Amino acid sequence: MGFKNLKKSDKRLGLSTLQDISTIILQSHHLNETLENIVTLVAERAHSEVCSLYLLDDNSDTLVLRATCGLAPESVGRVKLKIGEGLTGLAAQQRSILSIEEPQSDPRYRYFAGTGEEQFHSFLAIPLFDRNEPLGVMVIQTLERRVFTEEETSTLSTIAFQVSSIVVNARLLDTIDRQQEPSEHPSLPAAEGSQPGSFRNSTTPGGQTVLRGKVAYPGVIVGPANLINDELGFSDVHAEYDVNIEQELARLDEALRKTRIATLYLEKRVAERLTQADAAIFHTHLMILEDRGFIEKLHELIDEGHSAPYALKKVIRNYLEAFGKMEDAYLRERAADMEDIGRRLLSHLLGQKSGRLHLQHTGILVAHRLLPSDMASIDHDKISGLIIESNETNAHSVIMAKALGIPALIGVQGAMARIEPGAELILDANSGCVFLNPNATILDEYFRLEFDLTQEKERLNTFRDKPALTQDGQRIQLRANIGLLSDIEIAKRNGAEGVGLYRTEFPYMARSNFPNRDDQYQLYRKVIEEFSGAPVTIRTLDIGGDKALPYFNHPKEDNPFMGWRSIRISLDHKDVFQTQIEAILMAGVHGPTRLLFPLISNIEEIRACRKLVVKAMAHLQEEKIEFLGDIPIGAMIEVPAALRLAPHLANEVDFFALGTNDLIQYLLAADRSNSLVQSYYDPLHPAVLGALADLANVARNKKIDLCLCGEMSSDNNCLYALIGLGIDQFSLSAPYIPHMKDFISKISREEAQGVAAEILQMSSSKDIRKRLARAIKKFS
Ligand code: PEP
Ligand code: MG
Repeated sequence: MGFKNLKKSDKRLGLSTLQDISTIILQSHHLNETLENIVTLVAERAHSEVCSLYLLDDNSDTLVLRATCGLAPESVGRVKLKIGEGLTGLAAQQRSILSIEEPQSDPRYRYFAGTGEEQFHSFLAIPLFDRNEPLGVMVIQTLERRVFTEEETSTLSTIAFQVSSIVVNARLLDTIDRQQEPSEHPSLPAAEGSQPGSFRNSTTPGGQTVLRGKVAYPGVIVGPANLINDELGFSDVHAEYDVNIEQELARLDEALRKTRIATLYLEKRVAERLTQADAAIFHTHLMILEDRGFIEKLHELIDEGHSAPYALKKVIRNYLEAFGKMEDAYLRERAADMEDIGRRLLSHLLGQKSGRLHLQHTGILVAHRLLPSDMASIDHDKISGLIIESNETNAHSVIMAKALGIPALIGVQGAMARIEPGAELILDANSGCVFLNPNATILDEYFRLEFDLTQEKERLNTFRDKPALTQDGQRIQLRANIGLLSDIEIAKRNGAEGVGLYRTEFPYMARSNFPNRDDQYQLYRKVIEEFSGAPVTIRTLDIGGDKALPYFNHPKEDNPFMGWRSIRISLDHKDVFQTQIEAILMAGVHGPTRLLFPLISNIEEIRACRKLVVKAMAHLQEEKIEFLGDIPIGAMIEVPAALRLAPHLANEVDFFALGTNDLIQYLLAADRSNSLVQSYYDPLHPAVLGALADLANVARNKKIDLCLCGEMSSDNNCLYALIGLGIDQFSLSAPYIPHMKDFISKISREEAQGVAAEILQMSSSKDIRKRLARAIKKFS
């Protein structure tokens, strides 16, 4: 049978294929593996005997068979066709779908001996494009002679389009692998004009405009675009002559009034999301808006005959110049406040009632970049998805998207220029695509996919209040990684059993100065109280590397991840560090609290930390301030040296937090935020699993608590392996928790242990992945 009933008798077929292809993108690690998985999946879902992928070679004139399900495997890399040669080459040349019965009797058919092609009686070729450039051809062949319907070809075109995205993205990531195995396969064409790590945009065969980006949080959403413009247009403000001075003064007064009200509103929002202290900055803004000197300068310029916007432009520019020249970083920072005030005031002067962050409707937020303060003030309920133009893997927008559990793409080049406000979008943050004003067929597919995903979400919600329990009764703890106060609600909504990692640097990224002890105490207390009795692990500042505080002077380093970061900075700034420890100890009286030190790499560091805890306690005692005296103290194990030292560290601390995000990058020498080495950053590398198994053994022997708080536990394969290794406490982005509870409820720990024992003997992560995939296949 062919796949003539692809949409009619089984409407989910096309949709689930799209979804599974998305999964392949997320899970595959090498181009060849990805291509093999795709052809197998498409052939299976289409009930066709053959699915093959031909890709253009370096010179873009020869199609090479790169993967096949159904033809002889030896043909891969051997079958080559010039553009225009044979039916496959013809489809590429004509840039159109070719559907032919009895292909052998077509004069344009080209036979390759040894492929086994002669037995197939129907042939369908769909060209693949990268932007408008041909990329390759996907070919479907069936034993049965048949005609492909329009609906079938439409569904397969959508699939082929996704396949193009995968190939483009995987090809970029595969650059290094290809250098290592040049003779095995002909090398693939390097995308013209593309940089490794960048993603290109394109048009589907149906003329559909599509932008591409990197997945920050998976999911699919259809909705209108909510554009956030960076500039409110001081550059568009020019000198005007013959203005009516009275009118301009009145215009200014009205704008000042509106801006003050809006600022009060902003202050309230920030106080709700962060702390009163964080909101204080808007109080300062309010004071400036009422400042006599500021208003007089504006009046003077208007009296000289300038328009209100032009007067504002001049005044703000003078302030910015003056602040910008200041030595003191704190004062320089005030320049940003002036700019912020200026922009808001200008928007009111120009009659732009909505501020930059006032969202009119719920939709997909499109921005060049989101600033930390944006995150605090924006209305999260009105963001259904996120499209960010800048490509900052660890940017706030990414962290926020993960915490909110909304589909998000970053590095979407051209998003601001190509997307119109209010335009209908499909954000497919599984395959990394944004469809602009999609046509009815694609929209229909995605609506159904979105509906399916919503239903799945509702099903998963039923796990919220259930404990995570394996089939054979092993209890697994799932806690949340949090950063902002708004994460608390999300953590609770997803059934987190407390907080395994509170990253304290995040709330301070949104501020413009360092918080004092009381500010910190209030914030930590709020988090602890909100979790009403569930444990909260508070990690001390982990800045440096990829995380900077705007008011902290970070030196420029060639190698920041290997540099002055985290505990190293804290121990070099003992005053700041002790203040933070005191705030945590004070907050600890409000509920079960644990104190965690990051990036420990030697025993002296943890001893120095403990010494400071004793000093902090003595100081609080002196001040007669209540604090948690027997607070459990933990070390993050995220540097290979700490792994090796673990048996000794276990004698110094009460618990371990296993930071696999960093540990993997240090073990494998692969920067966690560098897309060029993403294929090297492999959580299932045998060296990583071996190291984790050793640590789990140390924790067991030393009877010390071990909680894994890296991102890897949100992947089914990894979680299965980790449970098999004997790890039973995890802390992760909260939206993943219901998923993981569902998964855990289906597996047996005993079986996972057996599989873990097997994979620990393996030397290749490819084999490990295969074994794990086989083990969990029955649960997916
Ligand atoms: C880690 O390194 O695994 C971790 C949890 O911490 P962060 O991602 O904040 O470095
Ligand atoms: Mg870390």
